[in-house]
Amino acid sequence: MEVVLSLGGNKGDVEDIFAFALRELSQGDLKIDAVSKFIRTTPVNCSPNSPDFLNATVIGVWDGSPQALLSLCQKIEIAAGRPADHGVNQSRTLDIDIILLDDLIINTPELTIPHPRATKRRFVLEPLAEIAPERRFPDCGKSTAELLAEIII
Ligand code: ADP
Ligand code: MG
Repeated sequence: MEVVLSLGGNKGDVEDIFAFALRELSQGDLKIDAVSKFIRTTPVNCSPNSPDFLNATVIGVWDGSPQALLSLCQKIEIAAGRPADHGVNQSRTLDIDIILLDDLIINTPELTIPHPRATKRRFVLEPLAEIAPERRFPDCGKSTAELLAEIII
């Protein structure tokens, strides 16, 4: 399956943490085909004075189940120093979100794919447009480049 992941973090040495995450993803059997530049972004929906984020997107090939990929991502988040009971929208060392998995649409309690907020997030679409501008989102049928052009702020 073709996978699109989004990496984010705003605590610690995030460039090093992203490098760690990419190594761990490879060792966990994700075959990585492309990694975007790491971009610096302003926090969205975070408490005032939260540090800026670093964001990136990754494209790879995954042969296991969607759930196994989520488990791998969560294991890497915790290995990077993120507490398991991490609150939503808190500063974090590493967040790995699964944005797309082939053209699958998944709605389970643990996993929503395509990621429900990805199509509105510049910090996802901008780095993804660098490596996969033509990639279409199966729910709305639009490409990354088209979705990015629709974002106002
Ligand atoms: P957020 O990424 O919104 O800041 P978390 O990383 O803490 O929040 O994720 C909370 C939960 O989101 C996880 O326990 C996971 O089960 C769920 N989740 C649902 N869909 C996805 C997805 N596509 N990618 C990653 N996590 C997901
Ligand atoms: Mg997440």
